[in-house]
Amino acid sequence: MINIFTVDLEDWRHIHYLNSEDEVPERLEENTGLILDVLQDYDVKATFFIVGELAENYPSLIRKILKHGHEIGFHTYHHTPLWDHSRERLEEEIRRFRKLMKENFNVGIYGFRAPLFSLNRKTSWAIEVLERENFLYDSSIFPIWNPVYGEPKAPRTPYFIKSTDITRKSDSGIIEFPLLTYRFLTFNIPAAGGIYLRFLPERIIFKAIEKFNASNNPTVIYIHPREVDPSPPKLKLSMFKEKLFTYKTKETLKKVENLLKRFQFTSAINYIRGWNIE
Ligand SMILES: [Zn+2]
Repeated sequence: MINIFTVDLEDWRHIHYLNSEDEVPERLEENTGLILDVLQDYDVKATFFIVGELAENYPSLIRKILKHGHEIGFHTYHHTPLWDHSRERLEEEIRRFRKLMKENFNVGIYGFRAPLFSLNRKTSWAIEVLERENFLYDSSIFPIWNPVYGEPKAPRTPYFIKSTDITRKSDSGIIEFPLLTYRFLTFNIPAAGGIYLRFLPERIIFKAIEKFNASNNPTVIYIHPREVDPSPPKLKLSMFKEKLFTYKTKETLKKVENLLKRFQFTSAINYIRGWNIE
């Protein structure tokens, strides 16, 4: 069973609650390089959901990602959550990003991930926009409860999604790849990546993937380049947030490596191409 590996390509400054006076270093190329190396070591292709402005600022990095055979998806132009977007703005950003990617890198865009997993009932209009813009899939649903994001009633395995009810499996529409969760009693525990990947014991994540794969379903894992930063910047965050964002970066890469060693992964578009959709 093959799973989906994704990278949300953004830098330290895209953390949504940074203090505006914080001096944030640019570490995108170095940190992404570490992820590209480990993916290459295990011969894994991934999907990189890119913040549009970064494709303008780091063309050589984009070229490198493409040269490694990875897929590029869209993560909005400036990392704006959907609750701060409008239909018109999202449409305009999609067209701008696609034009940039086609003209500069000759590559098509098929997938979307909302910043902060901000796809919920209130922002479900985004699915309609993606469908109209001929996207093949979305990967923004996190079927968990969280104070900021999440849609706990949504399916945990891939399904056809419609904006009329994003929590129901539809017969048609674009494909939704929800982020990995682990079912515990009546709760869905997030296990897909980011801080969860860093703090959850490896055996829980392994077990979650094994369970999904045993029922013939792929899991979706995500990581940010800053999470593997060997020397994270000192940010003026509260102790709690500082711990979340600056600790354990070294172990993250090791954890990713262990995942790649144990399970099979590919990009979302490769998965779709090999998937017989009933
Ligand atoms: Zn993001």
